[in-house]
Amino acid sequence: MDIHEEIAAWKKEVLEPFCLDECVLSCCTGWNRGVEVTEEHVRAALKRGPEENISSKVEGIRRFDFGGETVFYFMLNPKCVAYDLSSKKCELQGIKPDECVSYPVDVVEKHSTVILMITCNVTQSDNSALTAIQDIANRHKYTLDHTWARVEALDEVEKEKNAPI
Ligand code: SF4
Ligand code: SF4
Repeated sequence: MDIHEEIAAWKKEVLEPFCLDECVLSCCTGWNRGVEVTEEHVRAALKRGPEENISSKVEGIRRFDFGGETVFYFMLNPKCVAYDLSSKKCELQGIKPDECVSYPVDVVEKHSTVILMITCNVTQSDNSALTAIQDIANRHKYTLDHTWARVEALDEVEKEKNAPI
């Protein structure tokens, strides 16, 4: 398996149970940030059909119009409108926003780095999910990091190397 396949398997087999059983504060609740979504996501979360109006204000959803283009955000504080508190699951299974599908991992092949976002609770203690992703990174000779600082530093070094003298 390549590193992407291993991380995908880790997400399904290790992270998912951790999210349901051990995460005290899901990343779908409580963070002071928003997730960019499409109109399709808004309609699905509000259970509104294609003919129904979604122009009215809804708590937890922000709408911005940039020169004719409309961008929506689901705000995560106190919880995302698509998050079901009783099942602790997203109601948009199968059509999750891109940001949510990739969260909490990014694989930066160029710098052999796996970023496991610091906002994810897996990073906040020693636990089997953290050990498992560290093992995957080690096997592939990748560095596991929780912030983008290392990747940004390596990009800077590369820029300097390529700068005209
Ligand atoms: S869309 Fe789903 S996965 Fe994304 S923040 Fe909302 S509930 Fe969580
Ligand atoms: S913060 Fe991390 S462990 Fe918690 S629900 Fe989100 S992805 Fe899962």
